[in-house]
Formats: sequence, C-alpha cells, structure tokens
Amino acid sequence: MILSTHAIVGGAIASLFPLHPAAAAIAGFASHFAIDAIPHWDYPLHSISLGKGANNRRLSFSRATLRDLSIIGIDACAGLGLALWMFAAEGSIWTIAIGASTAMLPDALQFAHTLYPRGLLHVLQRFHWWIHSKRALTGLFGVGSQLAFAGTIAVLARNIH
Ligand SMILES: [Zn+2]
Repeated sequence: MILSTHAIVGGAIASLFPLHPAAAAIAGFASHFAIDAIPHWDYPLHSISLGKGANNRRLSFSRATLRDLSIIGIDACAGLGLALWMFAAEGSIWTIAIGASTAMLPDALQFAHTLYPRGLLHVLQRFHWWIHSKRALTGLFGVGSQLAFAGTIAVLARNIH
C-alpha cells in the first residue's frame, strides 16, 4: 500500500498503547506486512524500481528520479502528518511518530535491498515479496478502496479510546 496508508495504520495501532513506544514500533513494523497482504493499489514509479530483482545501483539523477523521490517524500510526510494529527494526544506524540515511521520502514528497507541484496535485508525482502498481495487494484476503484480502508482504520482507532 502507499506510505500514507501504512503511516495511518501504524499511528492508529500506536494510539492503542501510547505509553509503550517499543510495542508501538514492533506493532507498526508488523502492520506493514499484514496490510500489504490485502489486494491494493500502488502508485507507479518511473525511475526507481522495487519489484523482484530490482536494482537501483545505477539510478541516475534524472527528472524521473526526482519526480519519484518527490512523490515518495510527499507521501511519507503526509502520512506522518496525518497520523500525528489524527492520533497524537499530549504525551503520545513520540509513540505515534514511532508507530507511523516503523509502519513505513519496510518499504525503505525494500529500497535498501535493491542496493544491497544480502543478509538480513534479503531475508526480510523475501518475506515482503511472499506476503505482498499479487493482485493489484487499479484506477478509481484502487484509489477509492485504499482511501476507504485508511479512513475506516482511522475512525475505528479514534472510537476505541
Ligand atoms: Zn510494502
């Protein structure tokens, strides 16, 4: 799923135990894989590749790369901002930020794997590929269903406490 959705889910989970940042970190990280297993939409990248066998070691600094990086950056910042805005209360800001960030982290590790496909990174990447849904949703239905998913999680989490 897109980074914003991961951040919202990670933040929502972290909001359930605002005083336990370590638990929020672990649960946020695990949530990434759990929701990637659901068929979903992802925006296309034009320069950076993340698929199986992807190799970004020769990534050039082109317009397309800059565009990809901007989209990823906006997506991540929007996700972190939304998670903090929706779930952070006094005293829990750091826990929410940790949950949202660790929920996005596996995709950063996925990129790291395209540069260095070895060791623990490779083990994790194999799991990520294995669990990631093979069914890609497209078009308006893809975007809409992911928006609805993130919205539902946010409303549920806000109503639990
Ligand atoms: Zn992922």
